[in-house]
Amino acid sequence: NRLQLAKLKPATNSYVHGVFPKPVSNPKLENATILMLCRNWELSGVLKSMRSLEDRFNKDYHYTWTFLNDVPFTDKFIEATTQMASGPTQYGLVPAEDWNVPAYVNETKMDECLIDFENRDVIYGGSRSYRNMCHFNSGFFFKQELVQQYDYYFRVEPEVEYFCDFQMDPFRLLRENKKKYGFVMTLLEYENTIPSLWNAVEDFMNLHPEYIHPDSLFDFVTNDEPIGTGRLVVEHNSSYNLAHFWSNFEIGDLNFFRSEAYESYFDHLSRTGGFHYERWGDAPVHSIAVALLMNQSEIHHFEDIGYTHAPFATCPTSQSIIYGKRCVCSEACKEDNFNVHPHSCLPRYWKYNGKRFLREYYHEED
Ligand code: GDP
Ligand code: MN
Repeated sequence: NRLQLAKLKPATNSYVHGVFPKPVSNPKLENATILMLCRNWELSGVLKSMRSLEDRFNKDYHYTWTFLNDVPFTDKFIEATTQMASGPTQYGLVPAEDWNVPAYVNETKMDECLIDFENRDVIYGGSRSYRNMCHFNSGFFFKQELVQQYDYYFRVEPEVEYFCDFQMDPFRLLRENKKKYGFVMTLLEYENTIPSLWNAVEDFMNLHPEYIHPDSLFDFVTNDEPIGTGRLVVEHNSSYNLAHFWSNFEIGDLNFFRSEAYESYFDHLSRTGGFHYERWGDAPVHSIAVALLMNQSEIHHFEDIGYTHAPFATCPTSQSIIYGKRCVCSEACKEDNFNVHPHSCLPRYWKYNGKRFLREYYHEED
């Protein structure tokens, strides 16, 4: 009996490399990867997300999945995800210096802040690893060795679901339409996680006005109407309205994050210590960069990709799109589509970026 079991157990090598041959890779692929930072114990949620994205999109394309972790992935994780992917998979270990608290942060002060934030019930307020994760996702994911070769990434998290067939390659859509950042949901950040973030951003704007795009989406993230002729008046004391793109879903241009402007922005923010003394999320940090450093025409709302990451869900509203893209929208989503939720910033997004969109669409003059 023992002998039989041993015989049945496949050799590790052929198992890891796929018992079933992978489909021939698609010659029309963009230079892009699907990217997931995650932990070994999240495997079942990882497989759920993979299953959903493979069925709805990647089974027709076979893009490479790139997994990143601050500790090595287990054999079990590698075997299961290799089998679930329709394309190649690769696994990267994040170098300690890209993950850990940087030397310019005072660890004693940080420990006090963790206790203080925890006591004030700030979400993930007492967590050191969550801070490392947000700092990494803000400044280091695009620099990882396995990611360097790519131009575009599609960020995926464990336990998410896509409700509709893509019926298009979102990477190609970005490239052909000169877009650099795509999102599905936009909402308000918890104010108590980022008390001094906007001060740091204002300092950066004053130090580096040359990096702020003259046709930026500044108005989307601030409450102030623009004064003068320019969109941005740096001397003006503006305030952040907490609007951000929900970064558990992102499809974007890695070269934006590798730009001198973003590098300088991230370095400025990181050196204030705010990621660690407070609890700055990568979502507001990415979003503010996107809103200030990009041309607003480079931002894209993927309105047809139904999507959920707890606790919110969104689905297309058009019945013909729901049928045509074979969407299975949850009941919760039909009744409480996030786009019209009071915390959704989509109406504000359309107020500022929609006018430009309509102008371009109808080829009208300003
Ligand atoms: P939430 O969505 O803000 O509630 O936070 P998550 O727990 O989903 O974390 C965001 C992403 O970072 C997910 O893809 C997680 O798998 C990943 N993540 C969070 N903390 C860690 C960590 O300590 N190590 C690793 N490797 N991944 C992490
Ligand atoms: Mn998550």
